[in-house]
Amino acid sequence: MTEKNNKEIPLHIKILAGMVIGVAWSIAAGNINGGSEWTLSYIKPLGTIFIKLLQMLAIPLIITSIISGIAGLRDINKLGRIGGRTLVLFTITCFTSTILGVILASAFTPGNAIPEKTKSELFASYQDKTTGLIDKAQQGTGSAMDMITEMFPNNIFYAMSNNGMMLQVVIFSILFGIALSKVDVSKSEIVIQFVEGLNETFMKLVMLIMGIAPVGVFALIASISFDAKVFLSLLYYMLTVIAGLAVILFILYPLIIRLFSKISYGKFFKTMQPVFLMAFSTSSSAATLPVTMERVSNGFSIKKEISDFVLSLGTTINMDGTALYQSIAAVFIAQATGIDLTLGQMVIIALTATLSAVGAAGIPGAGMITLIIVLDAIHVPIEAIAFIMAPDRLLDMFRTVINVAGDACGAIAVSGMEEKVDSRQ
Ligand code: ASP
Repeated sequence: MTEKNNKEIPLHIKILAGMVIGVAWSIAAGNINGGSEWTLSYIKPLGTIFIKLLQMLAIPLIITSIISGIAGLRDINKLGRIGGRTLVLFTITCFTSTILGVILASAFTPGNAIPEKTKSELFASYQDKTTGLIDKAQQGTGSAMDMITEMFPNNIFYAMSNNGMMLQVVIFSILFGIALSKVDVSKSEIVIQFVEGLNETFMKLVMLIMGIAPVGVFALIASISFDAKVFLSLLYYMLTVIAGLAVILFILYPLIIRLFSKISYGKFFKTMQPVFLMAFSTSSSAATLPVTMERVSNGFSIKKEISDFVLSLGTTINMDGTALYQSIAAVFIAQATGIDLTLGQMVIIALTATLSAVGAAGIPGAGMITLIIVLDAIHVPIEAIAFIMAPDRLLDMFRTVINVAGDACGAIAVSGMEEKVDSRQ
């Protein structure tokens, strides 16, 4: 089933197949006496194992990718001004994307299409694992200042071993990365190489675990009871994400490019075509990076040292598509599990989605893993990620295109600010 004439079936096709079989299983089990109970006892655990393995990787991935991303720049001082501008621009676009996501998800309310009965089922099925968290979600989480204070760690090992404290881990990693970049090269080099090596190893581990994704997705989907309204709701959710991504690509980026360069958006799109195709088919901005670098520096006549710097930094920390997706997914999951979000929680979503998009590696599915940070911060049941896992690969393809487009747009803008852009080829 996995092999066809020596040609491996692509993973996303296998995951889609797992999803379809899972839906068929769920419908069939619902019609057989005791079928659903059997599924919950013997099939669902497979999905739980899959989720646990992904959760296991979230913290190590975040720590190593943030530290190696920041410290790996090494010459951050020399490139201080460009670095500063790049960071400001990336923060603005990322934050704008998350705000857009929260607004769209609140306006279209894709999760509300789920019938109340299924909502309470979804809610209950996650409740046993999240006792306490749900109460907090409903009570709200204290004042905004409390939430900000909570973002800072006092014991990093405690934060690493507690699910509710991933944001503290992100903050620690950023500070560590900055400090490491300031240490003398003779001493920092070995640490940076070690962290980069660890990061690559964890990425490989993600790939390995994603190998069982078809089975995991099948098991997760098979243990959800489906009806037409649930499908409809997932479809609304996907359309909301795609609409948001389109707004970024066709409104936000053209505005930025226009503001900082003389390049026409038609030319941008045409030059970037191979990059977009590559990003779409690999779902990995890291894998697409070499193509992005070639197209941006040659296609727009930007100084290579500027574009390479901005693009490398962007591939690690600038993920507008992922940020938008995470904020919509978080609001959607809250709606789907019947949790009413307060305005404060929405702000937290926008802030944490910006940070967790920074923490997501440029590899397939990374955004879904760091989405845990966002759910965690608003105390929404983390296991409910299972619900959005099936359509994730498709959305990953779309959001990765936006991620690389954002990096290229950043390179053009920063270059424009440096007055180095030549609008002619
Ligand atoms: N696949 C995305 C990327 O490589 C990250 C994500 O999963 O959102 O840019």
